[in-house]
Amino acid sequence: MTTTTENTENTKSAAWDLIGSLFWESGRTTAKPSDEEIGLFLDGIPAGARCTVIGASTKDLVEALLAHGAQVTVLDFSQRMCDDLREALPVGSCRVLRHDITRPAPDELRGTQQFVLNDRLVNRFSETEARRGLEGMLDLLADGGQIRASIKLGLYPMDERMIATGRERGCLDRFYDAEAKVVDFSAAGDVLDDALLPHGDIDPELLLEWYRGRGREQRFDHEDIIALLERADVAGRGLEPVSATEFGQAPNTRMYTAAAVATRRGA
Ligand code: SAM
Repeated sequence: MTTTTENTENTKSAAWDLIGSLFWESGRTTAKPSDEEIGLFLDGIPAGARCTVIGASTKDLVEALLAHGAQVTVLDFSQRMCDDLREALPVGSCRVLRHDITRPAPDELRGTQQFVLNDRLVNRFSETEARRGLEGMLDLLADGGQIRASIKLGLYPMDERMIATGRERGCLDRFYDAEAKVVDFSAAGDVLDDALLPHGDIDPELLLEWYRGRGREQRFDHEDIIALLERADVAGRGLEPVSATEFGQAPNTRMYTAAAVATRRGA
């Protein structure tokens, strides 16, 4: 069993260093938020609001927030993702910082943000990362500020293909924990190769390396997400679920909104 400590580097960033701008140049369109979904993310955000997007790959949302007049910060743990986004945006239009959201917030941003937004980022997390990642987002928020996180519920089509293949070959336990609902792409071996689905025009060899580097990812149902939100606790503050809005065009995908609230008297 691998244990992680607070100071362990998140090795998943190496997987995203392989992809960078290919994500928005050559990746699958449905992996990105549609115009309608971007409208949901932006709904009610006042011009000038301090907004942090987690994930430099979510370039269209960053551009929409900038056009909306928000003060935008982008955090991403992949150096290449940060560099490629900086390159793609007008100079000085927003701050792009290298940061792993499963860690405590950078000092200069702690408690300052009115909105923390991310598109299907939580789907890239293992169980521990999901808890720490939501707490990292909460740590960025000013009191009353909101997390807006879209999350795909249930299994992806490729998970289903891998599970079916693993069952056929009698090796499912090697890479899928049905109770925890965790897929481990790094342990799937040739099942991953054989179940791989295209991702736009990204080269299949690169795609395989990306998946392997993504490692363990949890799959969620609605109750899992509500429990995660309700359990978040950072320095006497927690998250109160506000709404879960269906993303019309993406199957089983919802935007979860939760507000930062005090949970302990005097905190
Ligand atoms: N659907 C998404 C989109 O439209 O961009 C892709 C999923 S997610 C937002 C992917 C991005 O999050 C990548 O740029 C990746 O480097 C970043 N990322 C993944 N895990 C992270 C972490 N723990 N901390 C910071 N950034 C992370």
